[in-house]
Amino acid sequence: MTASVFRKDRFELPDGVIYLDGNSLGPLPKGAVDRVASTMQGEWGADLIRAWNTAGWMSMPQQIGDRIGGLIGAPAGSVATGDTLSIKVYQALAAALKLRPGRKVILSDNGNFPSDLYMAQGLIGTIDKDYDLHTPAPEDVAEAITDEVAVVMLTHVDYRTGRMHDMQAITRRAHAAGAVMIWDLAHSAGAVPVDLTASQTEFAVGCTYKYLNGGPGAPAFIYARPDLILDVQPALSGWLGHDAPFAMETGYRPAMSTERLRVGTPPILQLSVLDVALDVWDGVDMADLRTASIGLSDLFIAEVEARCPDLLLASPRDANQRGSQVSFAFQHGYAVIQALSDRDVIGDFRAPDIMRFGFTPLYLDEDDVRRAAEVIGEVINQDLWRDPKYQVVSWVT
Ligand SMILES: *Cc1c(COP(=O)(O)O)cnc(C)c1O
Repeated sequence: MTASVFRKDRFELPDGVIYLDGNSLGPLPKGAVDRVASTMQGEWGADLIRAWNTAGWMSMPQQIGDRIGGLIGAPAGSVATGDTLSIKVYQALAAALKLRPGRKVILSDNGNFPSDLYMAQGLIGTIDKDYDLHTPAPEDVAEAITDEVAVVMLTHVDYRTGRMHDMQAITRRAHAAGAVMIWDLAHSAGAVPVDLTASQTEFAVGCTYKYLNGGPGAPAFIYARPDLILDVQPALSGWLGHDAPFAMETGYRPAMSTERLRVGTPPILQLSVLDVALDVWDGVDMADLRTASIGLSDLFIAEVEARCPDLLLASPRDANQRGSQVSFAFQHGYAVIQALSDRDVIGDFRAPDIMRFGFTPLYLDEDDVRRAAEVIGEVINQDLWRDPKYQVVSWVT
Protein backbone atom coordinates (compact mmCIF):
# COMPACT_ATOMS: atom_id res chain seq x y z
CA MET A 1 0.00 0.00 0.00
CA THR A 2 1.50 3.32 -1.00
CA ALA A 3 0.69 6.48 0.90
CA SER A 4 -0.11 9.67 -0.98
CA VAL A 5 2.77 12.10 -1.17
CA PHE A 6 0.61 14.79 -2.80
CA ARG A 7 0.84 18.05 -0.85
CA LYS A 8 0.29 20.81 -3.35
CA ASP A 9 -1.09 23.03 -0.59
CA ARG A 10 2.48 23.36 0.70
CA PHE A 11 3.54 25.35 -2.37
CA GLU A 12 2.78 28.78 -3.79
CA LEU A 13 1.85 27.72 -7.30
CA PRO A 14 0.04 30.22 -9.52
CA ASP A 15 -3.54 29.17 -10.33
CA GLY A 16 -3.89 27.30 -13.58
CA VAL A 17 -0.19 26.64 -14.07
CA ILE A 18 0.91 23.06 -14.70
CA TYR A 19 4.50 23.04 -13.58
CA LEU A 20 6.60 20.37 -15.28
CA ASP A 21 9.92 22.06 -14.57
CA GLY A 22 10.49 21.27 -10.91
CA ASN A 23 13.46 19.23 -12.11
CA SER A 24 15.15 22.52 -12.99
CA LEU A 25 13.81 24.98 -10.42
CA GLY A 26 11.37 23.76 -7.79
CA PRO A 27 8.45 26.05 -6.83
CA LEU A 28 8.27 28.36 -3.83
CA PRO A 29 7.34 26.49 -0.64
CA LYS A 30 4.71 28.17 1.53
CA GLY A 31 6.21 29.73 4.61
CA ALA A 32 9.54 30.47 2.93
CA VAL A 33 8.83 34.16 2.48
CA ASP A 34 7.83 34.56 6.14
CA ARG A 35 10.87 32.63 7.24
CA VAL A 36 13.24 34.80 5.23
CA ALA A 37 11.50 37.90 6.55
CA SER A 38 11.97 36.73 10.12
CA THR A 39 15.57 35.73 9.50
CA MET A 40 16.24 39.16 8.07
CA GLN A 41 14.32 41.28 10.57
CA GLY A 42 14.34 39.18 13.73
CA GLU A 43 17.87 37.82 13.39
CA TRP A 44 20.02 39.92 11.05
CA GLY A 45 18.18 43.19 11.69
CA ALA A 46 17.78 42.82 15.44
CA ASP A 47 20.82 40.85 16.46
CA LEU A 48 23.34 41.90 13.85
CA ILE A 49 26.57 39.95 14.04
CA ARG A 50 25.51 38.36 17.33
CA ALA A 51 23.04 36.26 15.31
CA TRP A 52 25.85 33.95 14.20
CA ASN A 53 25.63 32.61 17.75
CA THR A 54 22.19 33.62 19.01
CA ALA A 55 20.33 32.34 15.94
CA GLY A 56 22.57 29.33 15.37
CA TRP A 57 23.58 30.46 11.91
CA MET A 58 26.97 28.77 11.94
CA SER A 59 25.55 25.29 12.52
CA MET A 60 22.84 25.61 9.87
CA PRO A 61 24.90 24.06 7.06
CA GLN A 62 25.39 20.96 9.20
CA GLN A 63 21.77 20.65 10.27
CA ILE A 64 20.56 21.08 6.72
CA GLY A 65 23.17 18.58 5.54
CA ASP A 66 21.72 16.01 7.94
CA ARG A 67 18.21 16.66 6.64
CA ILE A 68 19.34 16.17 3.04
CA GLY A 69 21.23 13.05 4.14
CA GLY A 70 17.95 11.58 5.34
CA LEU A 71 16.62 11.72 1.77
CA ILE A 72 19.65 10.07 0.14
CA GLY A 73 20.61 7.35 2.59
CA ALA A 74 23.54 9.22 4.15
CA PRO A 75 24.17 9.10 7.91
CA ALA A 76 24.14 12.22 10.10
CA GLY A 77 27.35 14.19 9.83
CA SER A 78 28.29 12.91 6.36
CA VAL A 79 26.84 15.70 4.21
CA ALA A 80 28.21 19.25 4.01
CA THR A 81 26.27 22.08 2.36
CA GLY A 82 27.32 25.29 0.68
CA ASP A 83 28.55 26.84 -2.55
CA THR A 84 27.10 25.60 -5.83
CA LEU A 85 27.10 22.17 -7.36
CA SER A 86 29.89 23.01 -9.80
CA ILE A 87 32.14 23.84 -6.84
CA LYS A 88 31.19 20.62 -5.08
CA VAL A 89 32.03 18.63 -8.20
CA TYR A 90 35.47 20.24 -8.19
CA GLN A 91 35.98 19.46 -4.50
CA ALA A 92 34.95 15.85 -4.86
CA LEU A 93 37.04 15.28 -7.95
CA ALA A 94 40.16 16.92 -6.53
CA ALA A 95 39.85 14.85 -3.34
CA ALA A 96 39.18 11.67 -5.30
CA LEU A 97 42.25 12.11 -7.51
CA LYS A 98 44.40 12.52 -4.42
CA LEU A 99 43.19 9.11 -3.24
CA ARG A 100 44.60 7.45 -6.41
CA PRO A 101 47.94 9.19 -7.05
CA GLY A 102 49.25 6.67 -9.58
CA ARG A 103 46.29 6.80 -11.96
CA LYS A 104 45.66 9.32 -14.73
CA VAL A 105 42.20 8.71 -16.13
CA ILE A 106 38.99 10.44 -15.08
CA LEU A 107 36.05 8.56 -16.54
CA SER A 108 32.71 10.25 -17.11
CA ASP A 109 30.21 10.04 -19.98
CA ASN A 110 29.27 12.29 -22.86
CA GLY A 111 25.74 12.73 -21.52
CA ASN A 112 27.00 14.34 -18.33
CA PHE A 113 25.98 17.90 -17.56
CA PRO A 114 28.53 20.20 -19.18
CA SER A 115 29.51 21.98 -15.95
CA ASP A 116 30.69 18.69 -14.43
CA LEU A 117 32.91 18.08 -17.45
CA TYR A 118 34.08 21.71 -17.52
CA MET A 119 35.07 21.55 -13.85
CA ALA A 120 37.08 18.40 -14.55
CA GLN A 121 38.81 20.15 -17.45
CA GLY A 122 39.56 23.18 -15.27
CA LEU A 123 40.92 21.01 -12.48
CA ILE A 124 43.18 19.13 -14.88
CA GLY A 125 44.48 22.48 -16.16
CA THR A 126 45.12 23.72 -12.62
CA ILE A 127 47.05 20.73 -11.38
CA ASP A 128 48.90 20.58 -14.68
CA LYS A 129 49.39 16.84 -14.65
CA ASP A 130 48.82 14.53 -17.56
CA TYR A 131 45.29 13.53 -16.61
CA ASP A 132 42.84 12.46 -19.31
CA LEU A 133 39.10 12.94 -19.16
CA HIS A 134 37.36 10.08 -20.98
CA THR A 135 33.72 10.53 -21.99
CA PRO A 136 32.31 7.47 -23.73
CA ALA A 137 28.57 7.17 -24.39
CA PRO A 138 26.62 6.47 -21.17
CA GLU A 139 25.85 2.89 -22.17
CA ASP A 140 29.58 2.20 -22.66
CA VAL A 141 30.77 3.54 -19.32
CA ALA A 142 30.70 0.29 -17.37
CA GLU A 143 32.90 -1.39 -19.99
CA ALA A 144 35.34 1.53 -19.91
CA ILE A 145 36.19 1.08 -16.22
CA THR A 146 39.71 -0.31 -16.32
CA ASP A 147 42.50 -0.34 -13.76
CA GLU A 148 43.88 2.87 -15.30
CA VAL A 149 40.86 4.80 -14.10
CA ALA A 150 41.43 6.91 -11.00
CA VAL A 151 37.91 8.24 -10.68
CA VAL A 152 34.54 7.40 -12.18
CA MET A 153 32.45 10.58 -12.08
CA LEU A 154 28.87 10.21 -13.28
CA THR A 155 25.56 11.95 -13.02
CA HIS A 156 23.05 9.36 -11.87
CA VAL A 157 20.10 10.66 -13.91
CA ASP A 158 20.86 12.22 -17.30
CA TYR A 159 19.65 15.84 -17.41
CA ARG A 160 18.55 15.54 -21.03
CA THR A 161 17.07 12.08 -21.41
CA GLY A 162 16.30 11.10 -17.84
CA ARG A 163 18.23 7.84 -18.37
CA MET A 164 19.35 6.50 -14.99
CA HIS A 165 22.63 4.70 -14.39
CA ASP A 166 22.63 1.61 -12.18
CA MET A 167 24.31 3.14 -9.15
CA GLN A 168 25.02 -0.11 -7.32
CA ALA A 169 26.36 -2.01 -10.33
CA ILE A 170 28.63 0.77 -11.59
CA THR A 171 29.96 1.56 -8.14
CA ARG A 172 30.76 -2.13 -7.60
CA ARG A 173 32.54 -2.21 -10.92
CA ALA A 174 34.54 0.93 -10.15
CA HIS A 175 35.62 -0.53 -6.84
CA ALA A 176 36.55 -3.86 -8.42
CA ALA A 177 38.89 -1.91 -10.73
CA GLY A 178 40.31 0.07 -7.80
CA ALA A 179 38.73 3.38 -8.86
CA VAL A 180 37.06 6.00 -6.69
CA MET A 181 33.36 6.68 -7.38
CA ILE A 182 31.62 10.08 -7.48
CA TRP A 183 27.87 10.32 -8.08
CA ASP A 184 26.19 13.58 -9.03
CA LEU A 185 22.65 13.48 -7.63
CA ALA A 186 21.39 16.73 -9.20
CA HIS A 187 18.42 14.92 -10.75
CA SER A 188 18.13 12.22 -8.09
CA ALA A 189 17.86 13.93 -4.70
CA GLY A 190 14.13 14.28 -4.05
CA ALA A 191 13.36 12.50 -7.33
CA VAL A 192 14.25 8.82 -6.87
CA PRO A 193 15.25 6.66 -3.90
CA VAL A 194 19.01 6.81 -3.30
CA ASP A 195 20.94 4.83 -0.69
CA LEU A 196 24.46 6.22 -0.53
CA THR A 197 25.45 3.99 2.36
CA ALA A 198 24.42 0.84 0.53
CA SER A 199 26.15 2.01 -2.65
CA GLN A 200 29.50 2.35 -0.85
CA THR A 201 30.32 5.29 -3.13
CA GLU A 202 33.17 7.45 -1.88
CA PHE A 203 31.59 10.78 -2.85
CA ALA A 204 28.28 12.22 -3.93
CA VAL A 205 27.29 15.77 -4.76
CA GLY A 206 24.05 17.49 -5.67
CA CYS A 207 22.03 20.67 -5.69
CA THR A 208 18.95 21.71 -3.76
CA TYR A 209 17.10 24.06 -6.10
CA LYS A 210 15.76 21.30 -8.36
CA TYR A 211 13.58 18.59 -6.78
CA LEU A 212 14.32 19.83 -3.24
CA ASN A 213 12.77 23.26 -3.93
CA GLY A 214 15.40 25.38 -2.15
CA GLY A 215 15.05 28.31 -4.57
CA PRO A 216 17.34 29.91 -7.14
CA GLY A 217 20.92 29.87 -5.90
CA ALA A 218 20.21 27.46 -3.04
CA PRO A 219 23.38 25.84 -1.69
CA ALA A 220 24.72 22.54 -2.97
CA PHE A 221 25.76 19.50 -0.94
CA ILE A 222 28.64 17.04 -0.84
CA TYR A 223 28.82 13.62 0.80
CA ALA A 224 32.02 11.81 1.68
CA ARG A 225 31.94 8.22 2.92
CA PRO A 226 32.45 8.49 6.68
CA ASP A 227 35.32 5.99 6.88
CA LEU A 228 37.53 8.04 4.56
CA ILE A 229 36.81 11.60 5.57
CA LEU A 230 40.18 11.92 7.32
CA ASP A 231 41.90 10.96 4.05
CA VAL A 232 40.10 13.68 2.13
CA GLN A 233 42.50 16.52 1.36
CA PRO A 234 40.41 19.61 0.64
CA ALA A 235 41.47 21.44 -2.53
CA LEU A 236 39.39 24.46 -1.54
CA SER A 237 40.91 24.97 1.88
CA GLY A 238 38.76 27.83 3.12
CA TRP A 239 38.68 28.97 6.71
CA LEU A 240 35.35 27.36 7.59
CA GLY A 241 36.75 23.97 6.70
CA HIS A 242 39.60 24.56 9.16
CA ASP A 243 39.66 22.62 12.40
CA ALA A 244 39.52 25.87 14.39
CA PRO A 245 38.30 28.70 12.14
CA PHE A 246 38.32 31.31 14.87
CA ALA A 247 41.80 30.48 16.13
CA MET A 248 42.94 32.41 13.05
CA GLU A 249 46.03 30.31 12.56
CA THR A 250 48.19 31.06 9.52
CA GLY A 251 48.40 27.39 8.49
CA TYR A 252 45.51 25.31 7.21
CA ARG A 253 44.49 22.28 9.29
CA PRO A 254 41.36 20.55 8.04
CA ALA A 255 38.48 19.86 10.41
CA MET A 256 38.36 16.27 11.64
CA SER A 257 34.92 15.72 10.12
CA THR A 258 32.85 16.41 7.00
CA GLU A 259 33.14 20.06 8.02
CA ARG A 260 36.44 20.06 6.14
CA LEU A 261 34.37 20.24 2.96
CA ARG A 262 32.98 23.61 3.96
CA VAL A 263 34.70 26.57 2.34
CA GLY A 264 33.49 30.04 3.34
CA THR A 265 30.62 31.94 4.95
CA PRO A 266 27.31 30.07 4.60
CA PRO A 267 24.38 31.71 2.72
CA ILE A 268 22.04 32.11 5.67
CA LEU A 269 19.04 33.57 3.84
CA GLN A 270 19.15 30.84 1.27
CA LEU A 271 19.65 28.17 3.94
CA SER A 272 16.58 29.43 5.78
CA VAL A 273 14.52 28.96 2.60
CA LEU A 274 15.93 25.48 2.18
CA ASP A 275 15.05 24.63 5.78
CA VAL A 276 11.38 25.42 5.05
CA ALA A 277 11.59 23.54 1.73
CA LEU A 278 12.84 20.45 3.56
CA ASP A 279 9.93 20.61 6.04
CA VAL A 280 7.71 19.66 3.10
CA TRP A 281 9.52 16.29 2.91
CA ASP A 282 8.71 15.29 6.49
CA GLY A 283 6.73 12.06 6.31
CA VAL A 284 7.41 11.46 2.61
CA ASP A 285 8.53 7.91 1.91
CA MET A 286 10.82 7.90 -1.13
CA ALA A 287 9.45 4.55 -2.27
CA ASP A 288 5.93 6.02 -2.33
CA LEU A 289 7.21 9.06 -4.18
CA ARG A 290 8.86 6.82 -6.76
CA THR A 291 5.67 4.84 -7.31
CA ALA A 292 3.73 8.06 -7.86
CA SER A 293 6.43 9.48 -10.13
CA ILE A 294 6.44 6.40 -12.35
CA GLY A 295 2.64 6.47 -12.52
CA LEU A 296 2.64 10.10 -13.68
CA SER A 297 5.51 9.62 -16.14
CA ASP A 298 4.04 6.50 -17.73
CA LEU A 299 0.67 8.21 -18.03
CA PHE A 300 2.31 11.23 -19.65
CA ILE A 301 4.12 9.11 -22.23
CA ALA A 302 0.91 7.27 -23.12
CA GLU A 303 -1.19 10.45 -23.35
CA VAL A 304 1.36 12.38 -25.42
CA GLU A 305 2.06 9.50 -27.79
CA ALA A 306 -1.67 8.96 -28.33
CA ARG A 307 -1.97 12.54 -29.56
CA CYS A 308 1.40 13.05 -31.21
CA PRO A 309 2.54 9.73 -32.68
CA ASP A 310 5.38 11.43 -34.57
CA LEU A 311 7.16 12.73 -31.46
CA LEU A 312 10.23 10.73 -30.59
CA LEU A 313 10.50 9.56 -26.97
CA ALA A 314 14.05 10.50 -25.90
CA SER A 315 13.76 8.84 -22.46
CA PRO A 316 13.94 5.14 -21.71
CA ARG A 317 10.49 3.59 -22.04
CA ASP A 318 11.27 1.26 -19.14
CA ALA A 319 10.47 3.22 -16.00
CA ASN A 320 13.16 1.35 -14.08
CA GLN A 321 15.80 2.97 -16.26
CA ARG A 322 14.37 6.45 -15.99
CA GLY A 323 14.55 9.16 -13.33
CA SER A 324 11.62 11.49 -12.70
CA GLN A 325 11.50 13.24 -16.07
CA VAL A 326 10.31 12.46 -19.57
CA SER A 327 11.83 13.96 -22.70
CA PHE A 328 10.71 14.05 -26.29
CA ALA A 329 12.95 15.01 -29.18
CA PHE A 330 11.47 17.42 -31.72
CA GLN A 331 13.29 19.65 -34.14
CA HIS A 332 11.19 22.68 -33.22
CA GLY A 333 11.19 21.82 -29.53
CA TYR A 334 12.26 25.29 -28.45
CA ALA A 335 9.25 26.95 -30.08
CA VAL A 336 6.91 24.26 -28.72
CA ILE A 337 8.13 24.86 -25.17
CA GLN A 338 7.53 28.62 -25.59
CA ALA A 339 4.03 28.02 -26.94
CA LEU A 340 3.29 25.66 -24.04
CA SER A 341 4.52 28.17 -21.50
CA ASP A 342 2.16 30.77 -23.00
CA ARG A 343 -0.62 28.30 -22.23
CA ASP A 344 0.61 27.77 -18.65
CA VAL A 345 2.15 24.36 -19.24
CA ILE A 346 5.75 24.86 -18.20
CA GLY A 347 8.52 22.51 -19.29
CA ASP A 348 11.91 23.37 -20.71
CA PHE A 349 14.19 22.87 -23.66
CA ARG A 350 17.73 21.53 -23.84
CA ALA A 351 19.78 21.87 -27.01
CA PRO A 352 19.77 20.53 -29.60
CA ASP A 353 16.16 19.26 -29.71
CA ILE A 354 15.03 17.99 -26.31
CA MET A 355 11.69 18.98 -24.75
CA ARG A 356 11.96 18.08 -21.10
CA PHE A 357 9.16 17.54 -18.59
CA GLY A 358 9.77 16.88 -14.90
CA PHE A 359 7.38 14.90 -12.70
CA THR A 360 7.10 15.92 -9.10
CA PRO A 361 4.34 14.04 -7.27
CA LEU A 362 4.42 16.48 -4.35
CA TYR A 363 2.34 18.90 -6.42
CA LEU A 364 1.32 17.15 -9.67
CA ASP A 365 -1.54 14.72 -10.14
CA GLU A 366 -3.01 12.73 -13.01
CA ASP A 367 -5.40 15.51 -14.02
CA ASP A 368 -2.42 17.81 -14.50
CA VAL A 369 -0.69 15.22 -16.65
CA ARG A 370 -3.76 14.67 -18.85
CA ARG A 371 -4.30 18.40 -19.25
CA ALA A 372 -0.63 18.97 -20.13
CA ALA A 373 -0.76 16.24 -22.78
CA GLU A 374 -3.91 17.82 -24.24
CA VAL A 375 -2.19 21.20 -24.57
CA ILE A 376 0.92 19.59 -26.09
CA GLY A 377 -1.35 17.88 -28.60
CA GLU A 378 -2.99 21.21 -29.54
CA VAL A 379 0.30 23.06 -29.87
CA ILE A 380 1.80 20.40 -32.10
CA ASN A 381 -1.19 19.23 -34.12
CA GLN A 382 -2.44 22.75 -34.80
CA ASP A 383 1.09 24.05 -35.51
CA LEU A 384 0.61 26.74 -32.84
CA TRP A 385 4.38 26.74 -32.22
CA ARG A 386 4.96 28.30 -35.66
CA ASP A 387 3.93 31.75 -34.38
CA PRO A 388 7.01 34.00 -34.89
CA LYS A 389 6.95 35.10 -31.24
CA TYR A 390 7.88 31.58 -30.17
CA GLN A 391 11.02 31.54 -32.29
CA VAL A 392 12.89 34.21 -30.30
CA VAL A 393 15.51 32.43 -28.19
CA SER A 394 16.04 33.79 -24.65
CA TRP A 395 19.29 33.66 -22.74
CA VAL A 396 18.01 30.99 -20.34
CA THR A 397 16.26 28.11 -22.10
C1 LIG B 1 21.89 21.46 -12.51
C2 LIG B 1 23.21 20.80 -12.61
C3 LIG B 1 24.41 21.49 -12.35
C4 LIG B 1 24.41 22.97 -12.05
O1 LIG B 1 25.50 23.36 -11.28
P1 LIG B 1 25.46 24.73 -10.46
O2 LIG B 1 26.84 24.95 -10.04
O3 LIG B 1 24.49 24.55 -9.33
O4 LIG B 1 24.97 25.79 -11.40
C5 LIG B 1 25.60 20.78 -12.37
N1 LIG B 1 25.63 19.46 -12.67
C6 LIG B 1 24.50 18.77 -12.95
C7 LIG B 1 24.57 17.32 -13.26
C8 LIG B 1 23.26 19.42 -12.95
O5 LIG B 1 22.15 18.76 -13.26
